[in-house]
Amino acid sequence: MAMNLMLMGLPGAGKGTQAERIVDTYKIPHISTGDIFRAAMKNETPMGLEAKKYIDKGELVPDEVTNGIVKERLAQADTKDGFLLDGFPRNMAQAKALEEIGKELDRPLTGVINIHVDPESLMERLTGRYICRACGATYHKVFNPTKVEGTCDRCGGHEFFQREDDKPETVKNRLEVNIKMNTPLLDFYKEQNLLHEVNGNQEIDKVFADVKSVLDNL
Ligand SMILES: [Zn+2]
Repeated sequence: MAMNLMLMGLPGAGKGTQAERIVDTYKIPHISTGDIFRAAMKNETPMGLEAKKYIDKGELVPDEVTNGIVKERLAQADTKDGFLLDGFPRNMAQAKALEEIGKELDRPLTGVINIHVDPESLMERLTGRYICRACGATYHKVFNPTKVEGTCDRCGGHEFFQREDDKPETVKNRLEVNIKMNTPLLDFYKEQNLLHEVNGNQEIDKVFADVKSVLDNL
């Protein structure tokens, strides 16, 4: 069976790393929304030109255009034996559209992997980063702390700060938005028996071993 895959995971769950390993191991193209948008605009495909109109005006690209760009990409020959969708679909309208595209192009999804990490652990991962104000060295409270508490290893500085993106309020909000977005998709793919949950709260190699055992048994 073709490996027509979709990868899901909340911010900080390690989706990017697992995506890289999946495409390397199974030699399937990695179809991430950001990349295919850039390529479609650069190559001036019909949908790429359409997307550019919105982006140039600073407007959100409507679902029809996003779906169109995904369809153009999935219609390419290199997806014949499989692909890994990453960052699409993001909502139910896109998921339904993908179902239609899959039928039309004979590229139905055959598996959805969700790298699952509980929100509390994600908070710890995502809010732990702090930076030395003097030299810019980056640390993490849990995973990469300074050797001496409150002193920069590199320059001996004592003043640190957090990026706006790494602050608890910002991270909490980002997680909540993503959980709200993902929940209906997870339910939808679960109903279709396509969903495979992988525990992302373990070493990267172990996570990939679990992903691999799912994929090898599809
Ligand atoms: Zn420093």
